[in-house]
Amino acid sequence: MDDYGEICHNSAMPKKVYGNYLPNYDMTHRVAVLDKELCQPKKCGLECIKYCPVNKSGADCITLDDITKKARIDEDVCNGCGICVKVCPFDAITIVNLASELASEKIHQFGPNSFRLYKLPTPKKGEVVGLLGRNGMGKSTVVNILSGSLKPNLGQYENPPEWDEILKHYGGTELKAHFEKIRQQQIKTSIKPQQVHHIAQAFDGTGKDLVDMYDERGVASSLVRDLGLENSMEQNLGELSGGELQRIAITAAVSKDAEFYFFDEPSSYNDVFQRTNVARVIRGLAEIGKSVMVVEHDLTLLDFLSDYIEVLYGEPTAYGIVSSALSTKVGINVFLDGYLPNENVRFRDKKFSFDVSSSSDDFQQGSKVVSYPKLEKRYATFHASMEPGAVRKGEVLGIMGANALGKTTMMKMIAGVEKPDAGKIDKKIKIAYKPQYLQNDIDVEVVSLLGKANEGPIEGSQEEEQILEPLKIKKLYNKSLKNLSGGELQKVAVATCLLQKADMYALDEPSAFLDVEDRIAVAKFLQKFVRSFGRSAVVIDHDLQLMDLISDSIVIFEGEPGLSGRATSPLPKSEAMNRFLKSLDMSFRRDERSLRPRVNKSASRLDKEQKGSGRFYYKN
Ligand code: SF4
Repeated sequence: MDDYGEICHNSAMPKKVYGNYLPNYDMTHRVAVLDKELCQPKKCGLECIKYCPVNKSGADCITLDDITKKARIDEDVCNGCGICVKVCPFDAITIVNLASELASEKIHQFGPNSFRLYKLPTPKKGEVVGLLGRNGMGKSTVVNILSGSLKPNLGQYENPPEWDEILKHYGGTELKAHFEKIRQQQIKTSIKPQQVHHIAQAFDGTGKDLVDMYDERGVASSLVRDLGLENSMEQNLGELSGGELQRIAITAAVSKDAEFYFFDEPSSYNDVFQRTNVARVIRGLAEIGKSVMVVEHDLTLLDFLSDYIEVLYGEPTAYGIVSSALSTKVGINVFLDGYLPNENVRFRDKKFSFDVSSSSDDFQQGSKVVSYPKLEKRYATFHASMEPGAVRKGEVLGIMGANALGKTTMMKMIAGVEKPDAGKIDKKIKIAYKPQYLQNDIDVEVVSLLGKANEGPIEGSQEEEQILEPLKIKKLYNKSLKNLSGGELQKVAVATCLLQKADMYALDEPSAFLDVEDRIAVAKFLQKFVRSFGRSAVVIDHDLQLMDLISDSIVIFEGEPGLSGRATSPLPKSEAMNRFLKSLDMSFRRDERSLRPRVNKSASRLDKEQKGSGRFYYKN
């Protein structure tokens, strides 16, 4: 709650509900949301009901619902004071006071004290609209509404409106025509869902079987080539890697003949080369006049892909508001600033900055945790070699390169888990490892999982203050692992790794399923963690901005995926990034305002100039 609603600039700004700032409640309407999994009336002593001042005055503001046996808050009676938020021991309640004008812009609400969405993004013919925002802000609701699978109820969940009323609500807007088509069932949509492994669970067949079912445009075979899937199509979906499954799902979605296309996180599991190819395929749809919308948390990819950005802001799982359409550059900067100038709304109290000094080459200065000579590893059909190097105290060593070049093998050899065929590491160090694929099929409370990793109770411990508070995990303590979202699960997995007593922390794709805010927060935290506590970390990731932000030095993997991989020694960041971007034929500059690295448009003046002088990575 504290990240939101600190300073009120105007209308849509959520006003602080407790503390020093006292909002003018007359000008606001209440959003009271209850997390039903966290609300446990049998365990809490009903503090919210006891302390609510409106209840004390004799009215029924918070009551215990007869049917659900959970708290129920009457939003018309609630004065928004936020006392219940403070007294609830399980953090189950969110209260936000939103400007009253917003009430008429409510698009959908699922039920009493549940998530609601305000405003909608507008699909644009022949353009890619990028949706940028935190997880839990309603992107699935947006997709379901715009694709016609969810009829918007304008917030009237008890008595949902008919289409006539909905169309009247959208009179004079671009969305009216879109809804007319949905009403007449004339719109054809194609959606690439976020969780691609669900496709493998639901479909029993090969990649080819799946793609053939959708290939209405007759483009599947060229897409299979463009996305490097030639050797994957005959395999059953259940046998494919996450990256292959992702690209097959994209191939199927693009092959369908639709008017409106939606891609939910198309980057996950793909390496940078594959991400670039995916971006080109998706852009190809806009170039033939289709309306495309993309949710993506890899800012480099979003920047590369989008013609416009619409920012989704609010309070995760409580409410989401969609901004007006902005140019890609402005949209990303606005998101990082946490301030929408057109609407005069501050939606985050801090800016995310990309400090130029963070990319300076403070190269390899700490004492060595482990050093290694030239190493080699051979399998029947794969060969990996690594130039000598060292991992140092207080350092994050980044590992970058295409998939299937032996990055995980390298991690394991450094840690002494895997024995090299040539070269020897004298010292065996203790490594804590966060794998790429996370398991969530266990019904165990987050707090007990964390306690196990910590080898002792976590509540009230020093580790709780040092690791779990900065990563904002305390709210998840009483949730079951199997009910966590992808982003929540990733943060819990990172925390579980860092809680272990180890010499080195190895994190394989920590950005997967995290939203942009969490990616930046985790990157900054990890850097602080290794520096402050004299630890060291090795991070494999394909998000270029994250790697740019997090790494002190970088190992680059080159070679032929699946056949052979060669790793460099750890290189200074600028040299490594330059080498890597050159292999991608991409050049980066810094955005003059936010200082974030941006991809130069291919063949632009800057792109040509930088490539001509061999500076693929921007100058500081
Ligand atoms: Fe009662 Fe509303 Fe205050 Fe909560 S925010 S204590 S429900 S008046």
